[in-house]
Amino acid sequence: MSKKLGTKCIHSGGISDEKYFGNITPIYPSITYDYLKSDVYPRYFNTPNQLSVCKKIAELENAEDAVLFGSGLAAVASSMFSLLKTGDHVILQKSLYGGTINLVNTEFKKFNISFDYVDVSNKEKLESYLNDNTKIIYIESPSNPLLSITNIRAISEFAKQNNLISIIDNTFASPVNQNPIEFGIDLVIHSATKYLGGHSDILAGTVCGSHELISSIKKSGLNFGSNISEYVAWLLERSIKTLSVRVLKQNDNALKVALFLSGHKLINKVYYPGLEKHENHNIAKDQMNGGFGGMVSFELNDNMNSDDFVKSLKVVQPTMSLAGVESTITSPIQTSHKKMDPVERDKIGITKNLLRLSVGIEDADDLIKDLSNSLEING
Ligand SMILES: *Cc1c(COP(=O)(O)O)cnc(C)c1O
Repeated sequence: MSKKLGTKCIHSGGISDEKYFGNITPIYPSITYDYLKSDVYPRYFNTPNQLSVCKKIAELENAEDAVLFGSGLAAVASSMFSLLKTGDHVILQKSLYGGTINLVNTEFKKFNISFDYVDVSNKEKLESYLNDNTKIIYIESPSNPLLSITNIRAISEFAKQNNLISIIDNTFASPVNQNPIEFGIDLVIHSATKYLGGHSDILAGTVCGSHELISSIKKSGLNFGSNISEYVAWLLERSIKTLSVRVLKQNDNALKVALFLSGHKLINKVYYPGLEKHENHNIAKDQMNGGFGGMVSFELNDNMNSDDFVKSLKVVQPTMSLAGVESTITSPIQTSHKKMDPVERDKIGITKNLLRLSVGIEDADDLIKDLSNSLEING
């Protein structure tokens, strides 16, 4: 039976308890298994709890297969280093999660892997960066922290025409709002620390795609040793059961908050793909499943101090990470994009007064009241 998303969140994957008939997945913390009967070992990505969560996530993304890692960045790094070799070239979208940029900038050169950050919305530009040794095109949409939208269909067509492996970081959308495999993308990455986990208490990452690509990632990945723990895998499975209700509420709240902020005189700019004035609203509408996610970024008026604004908030909490059930806020230049070149950062819009708000599942009225109060106090 083909299931819809909310049903998949609850019922896909899962292990039935044949011994005691409990109705949730048991946890199997065993590291060692009888080698005469099995080749199961946590670092080989094949333990019962890992496979159970992978099945759920693969179904949510309409993928053949998935693999879990100990963090989102482990998923990014393991995918790249499994598929690349010395002499290869990678095209990356200009605006990406800071940790991914730092990984590429610091590690690729050591292995003589070349790379270019390209305005991927421009087909001529893309073509001009294409080389015989180009192997991967890597995008993120909506992107962290500026919520820029990349046309996923156009990228996967470009990849297919040129024999590249296309990879998307789908963390900000979550599988509720966007399923890039439907548009022909080869690999879909999530920092499961974010929406899949959703409670700010687990660190995990995942990659979804064809059996063939996922097997080659596992084959190299077991040499890197970046598997998830069984306890965390089990917690992740439990968390995903509420993914769809959480994210649908976050979509609603975020749109309300974005509309409030965009009408406020102390706000310079609001970045939210659900707003009609967002430069790629129509692309977002076309490729997202009706919701635009829980992340809203905005720039305060030049005369305001962003730290003071954050300190005056009573409901929204200042934190590094995002996508929990509680609303949180961060200054990207002090956290996710701290290691990026300041001039480059400023040029693309990651300025000192930019704040990235992760909208939770509280009541939207309380969130708006909180933001409104802090604007009034500091304006
Ligand atoms: C947080 C994040 C990552 C990295 O995930 P970790 O779980 O922190 O390693 C990657 N991509 C995006 C878009 C993120 O927000």
